[in-house]
This record gives sequence, C-alpha cells and structure tokens, in this order.
Amino acid sequence: MRILLVEDERRIAEDIVTTLKAAGYVVETASDGEEAWFRGDTEDYDLIVLDLGLPKMDGLTVLKRWRAGGRTVPVLVLTARGAWAERVEGIDAGADDYLPKPFRMEELLARIRALIRRSVGLGAPIVEAGPISLDTRQMRVARNGVPIAVSPLEYRLLSYLMHHRGRVVTVSELLEHLYGDDDARETNALEAAVARLRKKVGPGIIETRRGFGYEIGGEKA
Ligand code: CA
Repeated sequence: MRILLVEDERRIAEDIVTTLKAAGYVVETASDGEEAWFRGDTEDYDLIVLDLGLPKMDGLTVLKRWRAGGRTVPVLVLTARGAWAERVEGIDAGADDYLPKPFRMEELLARIRALIRRSVGLGAPIVEAGPISLDTRQMRVARNGVPIAVSPLEYRLLSYLMHHRGRVVTVSELLEHLYGDDDARETNALEAAVARLRKKVGPGIIETRRGFGYEIGGEKA
C-alpha cells in the first residue's frame, strides 16, 4: 500500500514516515500544497494523509481540487486541536476522516487501516482468502491459523492482492503500489517475491492470469 504524506513540519513528517514504514506502508512525502496537489493528481495512492496548514496552497484548496478533478483516493486530514470549523470544512471538502494534532501514532495507524479497508469494501482488520488470513493490525499472515513468516515485500504484496481480491492486479499496478519513489522497481524482483510467497501460502491462492497479472480469490473452475 502506497501512502502520500503531506506535512510541512519536518519533525512531524519524519515521525509519521518512520511509523508508516514500520507498519509496512510505502510512503512518499510532499511538504507544500502545490507539490501535494500535483502528486495526488498524477500518481495513484492508496491513501493520502493531508495536513491543512501548508505553504503555497492550503490543504483545503488542495483537497477541493483533487475532488473536483474526480480523484476518489481516501484522504485523512490532520487538523489543529479544537479547530472544529476546520474539521467541518475538511469533511465538506471531501475528507474521509480527520485527526486532530497532536495524536498518537497508534490512532493514526488504526484510522489509516480502517480507511483503506473501507475504500476496498472490507469491514474487518483481518482479511481472509481461503485458509490464509492477514492481520493488518499485527502485519501477520497465517494459514489455517498457523503463522507464516513473510518478508516486508511479501507482506505488502499479499496485503495488496488480498485487499483487492476477486480482481486481476497487473504487474505495473503492483510495482506502483509496493515500491516507493526511491526504490528500484524491478519486475524480476516482484516475480521472484510472488514465487516465494506462493510456496509459503500454498497452492491455489495466488493465481496467475497470463498476460494480465495476479489474482487472489478469483472464480475457480
Ligand atoms: Ca502545517
């Protein structure tokens, strides 16, 4: 899952980036409104965390422009404590949730998990596909309740496919959502990760749709 963090206060941004990365997300950052608007308009994120007080273009304007342009990405707005009018404006402008500063990182993560689940129509923090379960709170994978050890990339891969179960996910979409801006995006490495993950989760879970991509939970013959 790939997240855009828009925050102009460097210390806060660094703390959030560290937290998000530790939680298995790929994170890109923008520190002013113009850059944020451009990235959100041209790139495909699973979620955007948006501070409202930003240089060059304020967060509300950025959000309104994304929505006016048809961008439906889930947006979690960061507001100043007690700024209820700001929160109302944010929600009216198309924010999906808000979090007043200062906040606990645990709460930020819980809200992000919930927003991403909701955006793909899932209700619970544990996602299942056949015998495989993925606990998005603990970043744990199990088969029939028995834990499976996976690498961070394998976790991101399985998580993305399971959050989008029932549809074919293309290789280019995976490359875009599993790697950050600074990472080398290599198809070979991705295919190798799929092969390793397949061995771990067992046969019949991750299916290849030749020429298209991969799918979990598709229709079986
Ligand atoms: Ca700010």
